[in-house]
Amino acid sequence: MRILLLSDIHSNLEALEACLAEAPAHDVTVNLGDLVGYGASPNEVIEQSRQLGKFFVRGNHDRVTCGLIGLQDFNPVAGLAALWTRDHVNTENMQWLRELPQGPIQLEGVGGAQFVHGSPLNEDDYVLSEEDAAAPLLASSLPLTFFGHTHLQGGFVSAGNGSEFFQPDYSTIGASESCELALEPEQKYMINPGSVGQPRDGDWRAAFASYDTDTRMVTFHRVPYDLRGAQDRILAANLPVRLATRLAAGK
Ligand code: ZN
Repeated sequence: MRILLLSDIHSNLEALEACLAEAPAHDVTVNLGDLVGYGASPNEVIEQSRQLGKFFVRGNHDRVTCGLIGLQDFNPVAGLAALWTRDHVNTENMQWLRELPQGPIQLEGVGGAQFVHGSPLNEDDYVLSEEDAAAPLLASSLPLTFFGHTHLQGGFVSAGNGSEFFQPDYSTIGASESCELALEPEQKYMINPGSVGQPRDGDWRAAFASYDTDTRMVTFHRVPYDLRGAQDRILAANLPVRLATRLAAGK
């Protein structure tokens, strides 16, 4: 089975469309959450994503938008964006957000893999460092966890009681590129496809990944998108200017 992995789209329709245009052939799509928040196209992103299939886990921005959690853990800019998003998501999409499942989820026919927003131990945890990844890797009975939330493409492989970080090695800063990772049979992995709509690893290009369960090959992808279009929409919506400028920096 060939799985398309999307995460942290954050209402960035231009980035989502660029990823879908470049995505390799796939059998299912799994969305790791945070469809909304920060960007200016929440309804369009939800509607496009719903057309891609039925496999989703909820993110913290999805939960704050539909009122499942409050704003207390959001910084001021994220909080302003969350309030804007609450005001703009339509009733049907709001109800759909409310019903998104909490991760981890598993897919029928895909043994040995789970899908979460933050960490399999807690949907809100940020797995940013080798130390952060050690506990969930040790605790997991499954060899493969796909996660999002950090907006950093790459992941962690178990190493004794700890873990080692890896990230794809690209050669350009503006072109469409992909980078393959062959999974070793005896290892446990946590893999982040990166953020479609608000990358934070210093690379402005939209990020996603694909996974072929037969060949056990993960492919990381980066694609340029209509950055200016996404920024213009954010500014026209009166969202914080920082949400537009940070897209260009990939930070
Ligand atoms: Zn996010």
